[in-house]
Amino acid sequence: MKKISLLSLSLLFIGTGAVFSQQKNTVIENIQKEAYENSQLEILGHELLDDIGPRLVGTPQMKQAHDWAVAKYKSWGISAENQQYGEWKGWERGITHIDMVHPRIQTLDGTQLAWNPGTSSKGITAEVIVLPEIKDSISFKNWLPNVKGKFVMIAMKQPTGRPDDNWEEFATPESFEKMKNEREEQTKAWNENIKRSGYSSRSIIPVLEEAGAAGIVDSYWSKGFGANKIFGARTKKIPTVDIELEDYTMLYRMVEHGDKPKIRVVAESKDLGIVPTFNTIAEIKGTEKPEEYVILSAHFDSWDGGTGATDNGTGTLVMMEAMRILKKVYPNPKRTILVGHWGSEEQGLNGSSAFVEDHPEIVKNIQAVFNQDNGTGRVVKINGAGFVHSYDYMSRWLRAVPDTISKNIETTFPGWPARGGSDNASFIAAGAPAFSLSSLSWAYWNYTWHTNRDTYDKVVFDDVQSNVILTAILAYMASEDDSKTSREQVILPIDEKTGERQTWPTPRVPERKGGM
Ligand SMILES: [Zn+2]
Repeated sequence: MKKISLLSLSLLFIGTGAVFSQQKNTVIENIQKEAYENSQLEILGHELLDDIGPRLVGTPQMKQAHDWAVAKYKSWGISAENQQYGEWKGWERGITHIDMVHPRIQTLDGTQLAWNPGTSSKGITAEVIVLPEIKDSISFKNWLPNVKGKFVMIAMKQPTGRPDDNWEEFATPESFEKMKNEREEQTKAWNENIKRSGYSSRSIIPVLEEAGAAGIVDSYWSKGFGANKIFGARTKKIPTVDIELEDYTMLYRMVEHGDKPKIRVVAESKDLGIVPTFNTIAEIKGTEKPEEYVILSAHFDSWDGGTGATDNGTGTLVMMEAMRILKKVYPNPKRTILVGHWGSEEQGLNGSSAFVEDHPEIVKNIQAVFNQDNGTGRVVKINGAGFVHSYDYMSRWLRAVPDTISKNIETTFPGWPARGGSDNASFIAAGAPAFSLSSLSWAYWNYTWHTNRDTYDKVVFDDVQSNVILTAILAYMASEDDSKTSREQVILPIDEKTGERQTWPTPRVPERKGGM
C-alpha cells in the first residue's frame, strides 16, 4: 500500500468534498432538467385515470392499477412488487342508467353507490316517493308500508344548486343572508323530522329496505355546481343511487306537486366474492446505508364517482414521476428510497397502517416520509409533525429546492402530529418522521374530493410538476444527509376539553378483512 502523508490525505478530503458538493448541485439540476424536458406526467395520468379509471378497494380496476404501477417501475429499472396485506369484498361497477319514465322521459345524472348489489339489465321501474312529515315513531311505523315497491328519496331538497361564492358574488347581501337562514332552518327541520321516526339518517335506510322499498335515492350535494359526493351503499338487497342535485330536486318537486314521477334504475354491478388487497412497493436500494429509508408516500385507491384524479391520482403521479427521475439522475442513493402506493386509504388508512405493522424493521429506520394527498395544487404548507428537530433537517433540505418552488411554501415547526387524514399519520403514530406535503386547494373540498367531478381535466400539470421536483429534491437531500433524523417528540399541549395533556397518537389497527 502506498504511503500517504498527512498533508496529501487532508488535501484528498478537501478534494472529494468539493467534488461531492458539485455533484450535489448536478443532481438537483438534473432533477429539474428531467422533470421539465422529459415529463411523463400526462401520459401516466392518461393511462391511470382515463384507461384504468377509479380505484375503489375490492374492484378489478384497483388490482389493474397495482399491476400497471409494478410494470411501469420495472420498465424504469426499479424493483417493485404488490404486497398483499388483507382482503376486501370484491365488487365491480357495471352500467348505471337512471331515467325518469313518467310523466315524461328524461335521462338523469346519477350513479349507483359502491359495493351495492346490482339489478338485472332491465332494471327496476317504480314510482318515487319522499319521506312524510313524521310525528313520532308510531306514525312512522304506520306510514312505513307505503314504501313497498317504491323508490324512496332520503336527502333533503336543497333550496339552491348555486355554490355560496356564486351567491356572494351576485346576490344582494340581504338575499344571500335570507337564503342561508332559510337553508339552515330547513336543514334543522329535516334532521328533526327523521329523528322523530326513532332512527338516524343512516339507520333509517335498512328499515326502508326491510319494509320492501324498491330502492333508495340519495343526493349528497358537494356544494359546487354539478358536484355530488359518491360513497358506499348501505342497502344489502336493493339498489341505492345518488342523483345529482339538479335532477334530484326536480324529482322531489314533482313528488311534492303530485306528479307521481316514475324512474327506471339499471345498475348492473357484480359481486366478486372476496379479493386480496395490496400495497404497491418499489425501491431504489441505498448504497451506503441501505437499511435506512426515505419513503415517498401516496395512497393509490380512490372513491369511484369520478376517476380519483386529484384524490389521489395526482399524489400518485408525483411519487411515480419523482421515482422515475431519481432512478435516472441519482441511481445510487446513500439511503434506500422506497415508494408506497397504499391500498384502502379511504376506508381508514388500511394499506399504510398494515405496512407499518408488517415492517417494523423499516419503520424504525426511516429517515423521512413525504406524503401527498390533498389535490392537484402546488405544495404550500409543510409542518414539522411534532418532531422537535424537524426545523433543522427540513429547513436544510428545503434550502436546496429552487426558490421558484420553495417561495410558495409556508413552514411551521415543530408543528403537531397528524392523527388521521392521510397515510403520513400511520407513520407518525409509529414515531417515524413523516411529513405531509400540503397543497393549494383549487376548490378541492367542494369540487373534486370524493365527487363525481374528480377527473383528469381538473389536474393542473404545472403544479404537479412543481411537486415532483420538490419531492425528488427532498428525497435526495434526506437520503444524502450526514445524520439520521432525530425522532424527539414535542411535549403536546393540554387538551382544553379534558384538561389533560394530549398524548402522541397511537398506531391504528388496519382493517384486513373489509366490506364483508
Ligand atoms: Zn386522499
